[in-house]
Amino acid sequence: MALTGKVAIVTGAARGIGQACAERLAREGAKVIVADRDEAGGERIAADIREDGGEAAFVSCDVSERLDVRNLLAATLETYDAIDLLVNNAGIIDDAPFLELSEAEFDRVLATNLKGAFLLGQAVARQMVSQVEAGAAPGAIVNMSSINAHFALPDHVAYSVSKGGLTQLTKAMALALAPHGIRVNAVAPGSILTPLLAEVAKDETMRRRILSRTPLGRLGRPEEIAGVVAFLLGEDAAYVTGETITADGGRMPLNYTVPVEKGGSP
Ligand code: NDP
Repeated sequence: MALTGKVAIVTGAARGIGQACAERLAREGAKVIVADRDEAGGERIAADIREDGGEAAFVSCDVSERLDVRNLLAATLETYDAIDLLVNNAGIIDDAPFLELSEAEFDRVLATNLKGAFLLGQAVARQMVSQVEAGAAPGAIVNMSSINAHFALPDHVAYSVSKGGLTQLTKAMALALAPHGIRVNAVAPGSILTPLLAEVAKDETMRRRILSRTPLGRLGRPEEIAGVVAFLLGEDAAYVTGETITADGGRMPLNYTVPVEKGGSP
């Protein structure tokens, strides 16, 4: 088990990609703090991990709230004494055309997707630096970006901007923390079959649109993103920092579209 004894915080871990990350890190031997604003869902995931023989605890946290972030840190240290790994995964999406996007909605999305990653990333990094200074091994951080850090969406402007910002946050944090040996990377998923996307992909037109831009011919699974996260957090990635790994079934290198079979599964 690659992460035995490490303490990991995963945000937005009550479902979807965050849940898969929490489960994977626990299977790799990490003690996992499941952090989410969904208390019932988060408690359930932590309990499931414990039932499967892993170590996990739930902490309620809205990552866009400074006091919640401070509480998350305190609760983690009270439970496990250290913080070695962080997955800044919590994310939300706006759903209005650019000309109708309100300031409040823009702020709401940026507050979770970008400011949240900054607030928690900085707080955890400060803790990691103090652990390094006390002689512990340096930690690692992964930010959950998106292919929309590169591809812009006119109906999800705040989301696209937030993910573009995460690319630079990842690079800047990596440079700032490199002198301490702490690594910071990002994963940029394509279309991943979380409950939300499963609903969207039931629509045949939408399914064809997505798959016509997916050379591997299927949606990704949350576990496939968790695998990249586990790699980036582990020793196999010891010389990787400031990097964003795209996991998108081949969308980024594709210029036009690929053929899609009618009525297949997503
Ligand atoms: P989901 O919507 O399935 O899950 C997100 C979880 O994060 C939910 O439990 C949600 O709680 C929680 N959350 C939202 N806002 C906050 C907050 N401010 N503080 C704490 N928890 C919060 O998302 P996915 O699993 O699909 O996506 C996870 C990440 O991956 C996001 O950053 C997303 O942008 C990124 N991503 C996803 C892709 C996909 O295809 N699914 C593609 C590319 C990137 P609640 O239920 O209360 O909202």
